[in-house]
Amino acid sequence: MPLQVIVGAQWGDEGKGRIVDWFATRAGVAARFNGGDNAGHTVTVGEQIFKLHLLPSGIIHPHVIAVMGNGMVVNPRTLLEEMDMLRQSGIIVSPERLRISYAAHIITPAHQALDKAIDAARGTGLIGTTGRGIGPAYTDKATRRGLRMADLLSAGFGEKVADHIQEANRSLEMLAAPPLDPAPVCESYRQYAAQLGEYVADASAELHAALQAGKTVLAEGAQGTLLDLDFGTYPFVTSSTTTAPGALTGLGLGLDAAQGARVTGVVKAFQTRVGSGPFPTEVFDELALRLRGTGEQPWDEYGTTTGRPRRVGWLDGVLLRYAARVNGLTDLAVTKLDILTGFESIRFCNAYRHGDQELRDLPFGPADLSPYQPVYEELPGWSEDIQAARKWSDLPANARLYLEHIAILTGLPVRLVSVGPEREQIAEVG
Ligand code: IMP
Repeated sequence: MPLQVIVGAQWGDEGKGRIVDWFATRAGVAARFNGGDNAGHTVTVGEQIFKLHLLPSGIIHPHVIAVMGNGMVVNPRTLLEEMDMLRQSGIIVSPERLRISYAAHIITPAHQALDKAIDAARGTGLIGTTGRGIGPAYTDKATRRGLRMADLLSAGFGEKVADHIQEANRSLEMLAAPPLDPAPVCESYRQYAAQLGEYVADASAELHAALQAGKTVLAEGAQGTLLDLDFGTYPFVTSSTTTAPGALTGLGLGLDAAQGARVTGVVKAFQTRVGSGPFPTEVFDELALRLRGTGEQPWDEYGTTTGRPRRVGWLDGVLLRYAARVNGLTDLAVTKLDILTGFESIRFCNAYRHGDQELRDLPFGPADLSPYQPVYEELPGWSEDIQAARKWSDLPANARLYLEHIAILTGLPVRLVSVGPEREQIAEVG
């Protein structure tokens, strides 16, 4: 199993960082293949909480080589801050340990300004982006005028940045947003180039070499299946491929790398989403507060990147089955099961009602979910504290029953279950 892909099976924030951290003990390389600093992956190690936005979470393990793939969009400022934060915690971040694809795209302040101005101009159709410049950076990539990591190494980089800012200013003007002064941006980007140039590499070639040498490559997806540009709840999605096949295109791997790959879907035990868009199983009021938490704890349901309260609801089995299909999942890791402790009963959606029809699968994917009403099944809850559970038999019977239902509705085995916020609070199922 040399390639192992970890993807979010919902709308992001499933707790992928934890699961990657678990598997990284056995991996040689950890690679991110999509998105940018819109992501927020949290790993708790003892007293320390690492919140990573750009670097692969696997970098926390000293033996792991971290790779940032061509599918990513990189804000160099965030990256340098994150590298510093890790160094202050005693983690070595050097060109030997961190390789960034020459073909990854660069985010600038112009992308961030455009992101905010474009989303604000959508009015009631607001997507509620993270404002990190993700969409505009991928737009520049698709229109073939983006800046790439390889450009950091070229003598004309400063001029390229200046041209880019001037071009973006024309768009900002049309959106009635203030223009940017190119000079200070160019100066900062020259400095970033000097600091990051030595990390730029042919990530694809290095990953091939690692796989050929028999190393396990852990491909870390950011966001989740339902935010995928093609397969998510379009247009309320992010601008990258968040699903497992993106691990190939976003890392420069061929189809041969997919042979025998393990594809783990990370599923929160209930559903959450940040930003606008459909959410059939959403709940409100007291029940929502119970699932979300008050925001006092780092694991409460507030965005790691934006701090926004997340919308919450019951697990949506129709969307989960869909996620299993479009990713080609081989198994599941269920997270935050402990949050459901103390609920008298637990609901999950197993089908949608449309008129007098009951649908177990979506006829046209998840873009327009407005015609459907969730059909719920209800299971008895449990009151026992599960945070000390480390294996299947440690879990209360009703917690196991819920997990068995998740396995049945997806046709996939549940392999890991997170039962608390700490690194080792994971139960291995098989
Ligand atoms: P963007 O990726 O900033 O363009 O935002 C597009 C949509 O994806 C918004 O609804 C965001 O809230 C959502 N989003 C982006 N990144 C994440 C993430 O890491 N977790 C959860 N939602 C995200």
